[in-house]
Amino acid sequence: MNVKILVAGNWKMNKTLDESISFIEALNHIPAPQCEVLLAVPFIYIKPLQDIAPEWLTIAAQNISNQDYGAYTGEISAKMLRSINVKATLIGHSERRQYYGETNAIIKEKLQLAFQNEVMPILCIGETLEERKNNLTEHVIENQLASVLTNADAIKSLHIAYEPVWAIGTGETATKDQAESIHQFIYNWLKDHISESFAKQTKILYGGSCNTQNAEELFSMPHICGGLIGGASLDFDSFKQLIEIGNNITNKNN
Ligand code: PEP
Repeated sequence: MNVKILVAGNWKMNKTLDESISFIEALNHIPAPQCEVLLAVPFIYIKPLQDIAPEWLTIAAQNISNQDYGAYTGEISAKMLRSINVKATLIGHSERRQYYGETNAIIKEKLQLAFQNEVMPILCIGETLEERKNNLTEHVIENQLASVLTNADAIKSLHIAYEPVWAIGTGETATKDQAESIHQFIYNWLKDHISESFAKQTKILYGGSCNTQNAEELFSMPHICGGLIGGASLDFDSFKQLIEIGNNITNKNN
């Protein structure tokens, strides 16, 4: 199966509205890419950025509520995102797990709501440094997958971002072989527990200090279908270069 590279930026809690608009306006001047491109932006910028984004760019959310609607002050639901035509959202980013107490049980509820509302989830998983040092990486990844992807019938398409927590925002990146080995583990888990066709259509992205220096070697690995990129997605030139790298590695075979 041919899979296009996905270059996904995660702006986190950065940029003013004016800075965001200038960035998207500049993206309108680059040629339409061969790879897929997505930007997960702060909620309040989604609508204004959708209005000016080039057709090839998916403006995504960084999070959704684990509730459908009602008295949950400050929350944004998948249903609300769907009503403004948001097609994708991150779920279970390690910063949400670490700073906002998101457990696998909460992430499972969020995933189900994303599926029900047809907002494509990018499920983020990954081990801490402590877990890697104790040889628990595969155990942690398996547990993160098995506890949220339980009901095969309710699972619709999703992407997965493998983000070793020790590599996020630290400037430290997994080597291409370390990353490939876990991506292959995730691919095999999806094949064995859901189906081979599901594993093939699921993009497994690498995240963790991915940048213009290391993206090419990472994206060239057989089971790495692109990147979820934080810091390096904030700068226009660097994001543009990452798109160019993604363009040159299309039609990867799993
Ligand atoms: C992220 O936000 O998901 C991420 C991987 O950040 P960074 O690229 O800055 O490590």
